[in-house]
Amino acid sequence: MNTIRVFPRRTHATPIDHATYVGLPDFFVPECDEVHISVVFSWDLSWAERLAKEWAHVAPVTIGGPATGMAGGEFVPGMYLKPGYVITSRGCPNRCWFCDVWKREGGIRELPIREGWNVLDSNLLACSDDHIRAVFEMLRRQPEPICLTGGLEAARLQEWHIDELLRLRLRSLFLAYDTPDDYEPLRIAAKMLRDAGLIARAHKVRCYVLIGYPGDVFNDAETRLQAVCDLGLMPFAMLYRDRTGKRDRDWMSFRRLWYDPRMVGARISA
Ligand code: SF4
Repeated sequence: MNTIRVFPRRTHATPIDHATYVGLPDFFVPECDEVHISVVFSWDLSWAERLAKEWAHVAPVTIGGPATGMAGGEFVPGMYLKPGYVITSRGCPNRCWFCDVWKREGGIRELPIREGWNVLDSNLLACSDDHIRAVFEMLRRQPEPICLTGGLEAARLQEWHIDELLRLRLRSLFLAYDTPDDYEPLRIAAKMLRDAGLIARAHKVRCYVLIGYPGDVFNDAETRLQAVCDLGLMPFAMLYRDRTGKRDRDWMSFRRLWYDPRMVGARISA
C-alpha cells in the first residue's frame, strides 16, 4: 500500500522522505493509495480539515495524530517522525492538569523497542525496569549521541538509572518543573546527576518549565526559572497554550528572555 503522509506544519521531527508532504499537494505528487494527515497540535486541526479536502483529489484521506485525541499505535520508525526519533512507550500514570497524554493514551503502555537516538516517550521512567534496561541497551548501540527529549520524571529517578546514563554518549536529557510539587524531586534528581558528573558546562541536563498558564505571573515564573538555574540546570521555558494555540504577546516576550541558551547560561550556578 502506497501511503503519503501529510503534516500541517514542519517541525524538527517531521520526516523528509519523498512520501512526506507539508501542506497542500503540488503538481508532482506521486500516485498513491491513501493519504494520512498527521496532526500534532490541536490548533492545526482546522487547517488539517482543509488539507483533507485538497488531498481527497489525490487519494482517500484519513486524519490522525495526537491532536485528534486518538491513542497512538505501535511505533514505526520514520513513518510520522524523522529517522532517529523513537517512542518505546505511550501514556503516563500521572494526571497533570495541563497535559493531554493521560487523557489520550491512558496509563503507561510499553511498545516493542525500535532503534533511535532521540527518545520521545512521555514518561520512560514509569515503565518496568526490564523495559527501561532494554531501552538503554538499544541506546548504547546507536551511532549518534543520545537525546532524552521526552524527559525523565525526577521523582522516579534512581541510582541505577544514573549508572545507565553514564554508559551513554549523552547529548541532552530533560527534566521538568511544571507544578510546585515538582521542585523537591527535581532538587534531589539534580543532586544525583551532579554527584555523577552529568551536570557539566555543556548543559546537557535541561529542564522544561511551564510558564504563562492561567493564574501565572511573571515574577513567579521568573522565580521558578531562576530556581532551575540555581540547581545548575538549563531551563527550557514552555509557554502554555490552550487548544486554540493562542499565546499572550507579553508572555511571548518574557519567554524570549529565557529562550536563548547563551543568555540563560549566564544565570546558571556553576
Ligand atoms: S508526567 Fe508528563 S506525560 Fe505524565 S501527565 Fe504529567 S506532563 Fe503529562
